[in-house]
Amino acid sequence: MDQKFIPLSVPNLKGKELEYVTHAVQTEWVSSVGAYVDSFETKTAEYVNAAGAISVQNGTSGLHVALQVCGVSAGDEVIVPTLTFIAAVNPVKYLSADPIFMDCDDSLCMDPVKLSDFCKEECIFTDGKLINKRTGKYIKAVLVVHVFGNLADMERITEIADEFNLKIIEDATEALGSYYSEGVLKGKFAGTIGTLGVYSFNGNKIITTGGGGMIVSNDKELLKKAKHLTTQAKSDDLYYTHDEIGYNYRMTNVQAAIGLAQLEQIETFIKQKQENYVAYQEGIRKIPGLQMLPFREDIRSNYWFYSLFISEDYPLNRENLIQYLNENKIQARPVWGLINEQKPYLSNQVYKIENAKKYWANVVNIPCSSNLTEEDVQYIINCLKSLGS
Ligand SMILES: *Cc1c(COP(=O)(O)O)cnc(C)c1O
Repeated sequence: MDQKFIPLSVPNLKGKELEYVTHAVQTEWVSSVGAYVDSFETKTAEYVNAAGAISVQNGTSGLHVALQVCGVSAGDEVIVPTLTFIAAVNPVKYLSADPIFMDCDDSLCMDPVKLSDFCKEECIFTDGKLINKRTGKYIKAVLVVHVFGNLADMERITEIADEFNLKIIEDATEALGSYYSEGVLKGKFAGTIGTLGVYSFNGNKIITTGGGGMIVSNDKELLKKAKHLTTQAKSDDLYYTHDEIGYNYRMTNVQAAIGLAQLEQIETFIKQKQENYVAYQEGIRKIPGLQMLPFREDIRSNYWFYSLFISEDYPLNRENLIQYLNENKIQARPVWGLINEQKPYLSNQVYKIENAKKYWANVVNIPCSSNLTEEDVQYIINCLKSLGS
């Protein structure tokens, strides 16, 4: 029997997507305003309990605008993680600011202990400003990524940000639907804890609009500024006056139609992803040398991406395992290359990167789409097993 190809993470469009898109086309509301844009924004804000939401073209443009409304500008610095997708960091450079790269902890998200040590030991806090001793530059913000649907230690990071007067931008592009289920942040969703949060609706994310994104916040003033920037900074609709340089970053009504239908299904997707995660965990537990990395215990994760950690007891190393899986029609890939090692960032400051190197060398992402079947998961486990025992 021919085994079908099992992709890593693909869209699942079996809800009302076609109905809503058809309606958008039939009514000829296809561009950057329309009822679907409004309701997708409202429904997203409601879902995560934020004061408001502004839709954008993609997660990257959302992060660009979020950093800008937080006041990041030329010559400033922003603390960022090194173990993440490069789209989290490029917007810092779009604003002619510079990133400082921070290590991760075992959640794969930014290590709060190192963040605190860096602020205390490598910086001076004066006049309400955190100044980097090495460069003399003003560090205005910390950009936190909730990697693979896990959550960063936001309780600790918020304390540090308060202590040193840093704005927090949450890159929640991978973590829509994840929230704290215990502790002081109980009930708080990824993206709603910092100053501003950003989601992505790229094709591989938990819900998709083809391409798209959303900025959320509890600060309505900042949201107003964000919307202004995404709409060419137009301050008068009739006479077209503009008070600063804005962008054309708005989402279209067609994208929002898809997004609204997707949002209606998000809890179903999370449930399917959780079941598949548990099934993988059960099967992989018995294979010497392999482990499914856990999500934090004090959260309800959206289970977006699954990370397989390979140790030396396993007969294959990372490269060989990826190749073996590909030969068996299973798409798998290593975690992203560390950003501080990428060409455009070689001259930027790094702070004690250790854990990120270990996870970079030993983590492989395996298929996690919400439409992955139980049989698919069993087939993948069996492939992994036939080598390990
Ligand atoms: C997907 C992603 C982005 C960018 O989102 P786009 O919608 O593709 O622009 C940014 N940061 C991280 C961590 C991501 O995974």
